[in-house]
Amino acid sequence: MVRIIDAPLAADPVCETRPRAQWGALDAAKARGLEFTADVKRETDALYEMVEHVIPPFEWPAYAPLIAAINRLKKQKNAVILAHNYMTSEIFFCVGDFRGDSLALAREAAQSKADVIVQAGVHFMAETSKILAPGKTVLIPDLRAGCSLAASITGADVRLIGERFPGVPVVTYVNTSAEVKAESDVTCTSSNAVQVAEWAAKEWGTDRVILIPDEFLAKNVAAMTKLKIIAWHGRCEVHERFTAEDVRELRAAHPGLVVLAHPECPPDVMAESDYAGSTAALANYVEKNRPGKVVLLTECSMSDNVAAAAPETDFIRPCNLCPHMKRITLEAIYDALVEMKHEVVVDEAVRVRAKRAIDRMLALPKTAAPLDFETGLPRADVTVI
Ligand code: SF4
Repeated sequence: MVRIIDAPLAADPVCETRPRAQWGALDAAKARGLEFTADVKRETDALYEMVEHVIPPFEWPAYAPLIAAINRLKKQKNAVILAHNYMTSEIFFCVGDFRGDSLALAREAAQSKADVIVQAGVHFMAETSKILAPGKTVLIPDLRAGCSLAASITGADVRLIGERFPGVPVVTYVNTSAEVKAESDVTCTSSNAVQVAEWAAKEWGTDRVILIPDEFLAKNVAAMTKLKIIAWHGRCEVHERFTAEDVRELRAAHPGLVVLAHPECPPDVMAESDYAGSTAALANYVEKNRPGKVVLLTECSMSDNVAAAAPETDFIRPCNLCPHMKRITLEAIYDALVEMKHEVVVDEAVRVRAKRAIDRMLALPKTAAPLDFETGLPRADVTVI
C-alpha cells in the first residue's frame, strides 16, 4: 500500500517505495553529458555499498555519474549538502554531507564553514539555514519543494492569534516560513516540542501555550503535559493519512510487528502504536532495539535510510510519499550547483526576528537523545482556532 499524494509521482513497479520521479535520473545524467566511466565507477564504488539495499545494480550506472559530478562540484564551490531523512537514499547517503532531521540540519547550517549550502529538503528548511547562516549562499534545488504545514499559516495569522491571546507564548513548529517564525516567541521541532512548550509556559508565567501550526502535534503534546494548548488547524499531508485502522490491519497481517509513529500522525494512530517520536527518535529506536519486524508510520524514504543501519530488521513499508521532498532529485541538485540556483533570500528584518525565536529553542539544554512521545495515552482537549 503506497499512497502518492501528488499526481506526477506514480508508484514504481519494481520497488514500490521509490517514486517513478526518481527514475528520471536514469536519463538525466546522459542529458547532462555525464557518463558512467571507469573513473566514475572508482569514485562511487564505496558509496554504492551504502545504498545497495535499495538501488539494484542495473540502476547504479545512471545515478553514479550525477553523484560523482555533484561531489566534485561541492569541492570546487566549497559547498555542503544538508540532507533530510526523507530524501531518497542516493541523495541521503551518496551526496549528503550532513544528514538528519530539521533540528540537526539547522544546527549544522549554523556551524558550517562552507560558502554554499544546498538544502536537500524543503523550502522552510532552506530558509532556516539562511536565518542561521546569513553570510552563506543557500540554494534550494527546486522551488516547488514546499510543505502543507508551512503553507497552512501566514505571519498575519500569527499576529492575529497573538492579539487574541495576549500574554500567551507562541510556540511555532519549525515547519513554517521565516515570516511566521518572525512573529513567534520560540520555535520547536518534533524532537523537543514538549520541552519547549513547558519552558515557554514557565518563562511567560502561564499554564497556556499557543502551539502552531500542526494540529496533531499539538494534540499529541497536550496528551503529555498539563498545559492548556491552543492549536491551529494545519496538517502534514503525509502523516495525516495514517489511520488507526491501518495500524490494526498491519498488526493482523504481520504478527510481531513493532509500530513506530511520528507525532504528526493523528492521536488515535499514536494511541495504537508501540513507540512514537521525532524522525531522529524513530531512527534511534530502530538502531538501538533492532526489532525483528517494524513499520515506520512516516515518510517512505525514511525506512530505506534507516534500513541501512539495521540490515537484519524486516521493514514493512505501507508508507506515504511527500511530494514536496520528492521534488529534490540528483539532477536538480546538480543543476543547482552548476547554475547556483535557486538562491533563498530572507528579508533582514524578518531574519533577525525569526532568529530570535530559533535561538531561544537552540539555547535550551540539548538532551542526550531525542525525547520520546508516550503512546497509548487518552486524548487531551485542545482549543483549535
Ligand atoms: S512530510 Fe509533511 S511536514 Fe514534511 S515537508 Fe512533507 S508535507 Fe511538510
